[in-house]
Amino acid sequence: MAATRIDGKAFAASLRERVGASAAEFAKAAGRKPGLAVVLVGDDPASQVYVGSKGKATLAANMNSYEHRLPDDTSAADLLAVVEQLNADDAVDGILVQLPLPEHLDEQSIIAAISPDKDVDGFHVINAGRLSVGQAGFVPCTPLGCMMLLTDRLGDLSGLEAVVIGRSNIVGKPMAQLLVDANATVTIAHSRTRDLAAVVKRADIVVAAVGRPEMIGKDWLKDGATVIDVGINRLPPEPGKEKGKLVGDVAYDEAAEVAGAITPVPGGVGPMTIAVLLRNTLVAAYRNAGLTVPEAL
Ligand code: NAD
Repeated sequence: MAATRIDGKAFAASLRERVGASAAEFAKAAGRKPGLAVVLVGDDPASQVYVGSKGKATLAANMNSYEHRLPDDTSAADLLAVVEQLNADDAVDGILVQLPLPEHLDEQSIIAAISPDKDVDGFHVINAGRLSVGQAGFVPCTPLGCMMLLTDRLGDLSGLEAVVIGRSNIVGKPMAQLLVDANATVTIAHSRTRDLAAVVKRADIVVAAVGRPEMIGKDWLKDGATVIDVGINRLPPEPGKEKGKLVGDVAYDEAAEVAGAITPVPGGVGPMTIAVLLRNTLVAAYRNAGLTVPEAL
């Protein structure tokens, strides 16, 4: 039987709507809108597009959007001064420094300068630590979005076998932590894992966050597995076309013959990331204003 297609685009749209409604409630209670500041250094075209769409989504969710576009040759000191100014600004609840930064800037030290209570990307070591010991903080948007899709589809994850492929700080590791916290039995697989196909075959839940086009075929999957494909890979363009097709780390069509449910690329995990960023910003606003965060978030 063909797998259910997990519609991340629709889920993200409904999350954005809920966040927008709740942001309007926040504004009534706090006397101000939540605010998200995005800092972009340089003119990387992909980053320009991301920052533009984050700004639009922020405004559409009844929040204020502050964009800081800095030149490519911005010094670390100047960038840190912008971050400090945003840390101190009560109108700003969330701060996001768009990555990657130009090579002369050290990403870790810039992220370390963001107030952990405004770090809505969840990349600060304090927030990684909070996640690891079970304290309230901010969880990186992409894995939290994957978790929302998984619990929406499966409900209780207790005792399920989950395999996360990829161990990055922004996707694989926090994803594995969230799954452990939800009582799944978790394996983190990576580039040095032996017999990856056999490891994946055990999984009731597969989260693929590698960055290798269509690496996971149907032979790797257990019957009925739930497959979350985080990978975004552009194939070389076909003759006569300007751009290649976007595909995930999973060979969708064949995997859908075996899986119980699967996210497409595009339209699966991707749209969740911005929706969760807005959600995290609203959570930050409630906390910063000393108000109780609504449970529905
Ligand atoms: P990364 O490059 O930091 O990490 C990739 C991981 O894959 C590494 O931990 C590595 O050990 C593992 N890996 C590499 N080759 C492997 C192999 N042959 N077998 C098993 N594991 C292997 O990447 P990342 O930032 O975690 O992103 C992963 C993918 O997810 C990328 O395609 C990226 O574009 C995509 N992504 C999507 C979103 C989204 O919003 N949908 C967000 C972040 C990342």
